[in-house]
Amino acid sequence: MSPRYPKKSERDVPFCSFCGREATKENPLVSGLYDDNVFICGSCARSCTSIVSENATFDGEVKLRTPREIKEYLDEYVIGQDSAKRAISVAVYTHYLRLMSHLSGMGKPEMIKSLKNAPVEKGSDVELDKSNMLVIGSTGTGKTLLAKTLARMMNVPFAITDATTLTQAGYVGEDVENVILQLLQNANFNVAKAEWGIVYIDEIDKIKKTGDNVSITRDVSGEGVQQALLKIMEGTVANVPPKGGRKHPLEEYIKVDTTNILFICGGAFNGLDKIVARRLGKGQVGFEGGRKILKETDELLSKVDQEDLISYGMIPEFIGRLPVITPLNDLKKEDLIRILTEPKNAIIRQYQSIFAMSGKTLTFEREALEWIAQKAIEKKTGARGLRAIIERFMTNLIYTLPEAGDKSEFVVKLEDLKKGTDI
Ligand code: ADP
Repeated sequence: MSPRYPKKSERDVPFCSFCGREATKENPLVSGLYDDNVFICGSCARSCTSIVSENATFDGEVKLRTPREIKEYLDEYVIGQDSAKRAISVAVYTHYLRLMSHLSGMGKPEMIKSLKNAPVEKGSDVELDKSNMLVIGSTGTGKTLLAKTLARMMNVPFAITDATTLTQAGYVGEDVENVILQLLQNANFNVAKAEWGIVYIDEIDKIKKTGDNVSITRDVSGEGVQQALLKIMEGTVANVPPKGGRKHPLEEYIKVDTTNILFICGGAFNGLDKIVARRLGKGQVGFEGGRKILKETDELLSKVDQEDLISYGMIPEFIGRLPVITPLNDLKKEDLIRILTEPKNAIIRQYQSIFAMSGKTLTFEREALEWIAQKAIEKKTGARGLRAIIERFMTNLIYTLPEAGDKSEFVVKLEDLKKGTDI
């Protein structure tokens, strides 16, 4: 109940025209431009912003690209992973087709207009399934990069979250709705915009069901979180606490329909290859007729199916919400060298541009690049470790760059890297 204030005419200090409160340090008043006897306090202004943005429509533009165009865009940033890029391109394409048909069904033609290059005018009567994805691959193989690149290409809000921070309601940790909160924040609380977004949930393998014999410690992170997540992944109206954290009974929630949000889950799923091998039959691993036919992890993972993921500890209903499953390959030396040099924002290119700004050129000898790639393989951090390997060396080099005088060409050689000294 709002406090009782004296009549308007009896008050001689300014007060908020909406709630009647007087100014405090924490809650200052802003006067009207047209009438300087009218005020709004900070708290009312904030409530207004949230109401306005909740009802805002999507004002951006989502360009619908063909699967080939999507793949070509991904190629500029993500090296290798061809079959995954293909699968993802088709999934994203169908996701936005589905969205279009859904929007036409909902009578929101103005939103369809913002889907540029839509191939047909109207949606189809056939309900397309949601194409949420599961990306399986070791650390540093490009799972997050793929999701991020997609969101940038589609010009939709994007949120990354870690499944291990989520817990089922009632336990210490974050409610699954916080995943959507991040998306809302990245969409500046424009709900309509957030409802078209992409969410990447990392470490999804860490919320696998643990065995039946763990009742003493309680399975707080596993099955319950999968249950909670599957609802928002399939599509529901999520009640998102605007300030995050745990839901509070007295708090007002922002309602976000998750039907059209694309979810991409990623995880390393260590040991999944063994499960696939077992399903495919004994012949896949070990020796046959004296000939070693141990299949490579990559090859085994290319045959992964939903059954294997269920054996791994994911619940069938959860996996059922992820119709597109695609493995990423471990990056080989050659891929890592390409990652160092080829993508638009490749590490070496970034260093080269620093040198170019000082009027110098920087090149790396082939052996030097191979050495860096080899170190990354030894560290088992995929492409994630590449920068760290040359960071110190490059820091030393750039430190003395402004004092390099007339020297205009810098070549990084294998011996320099090994010694870790300046060129
Ligand atoms: P993860 O698979 O663990 O999610 P990331 O996508 O976060 O790995 O990759 C970490 C970093 O490594 C990225 O920011 C990117 O610079 C680089 N990287 C990883 N994989 C690739 C790839 N296939 N192509 C280009 N860069 C990559």
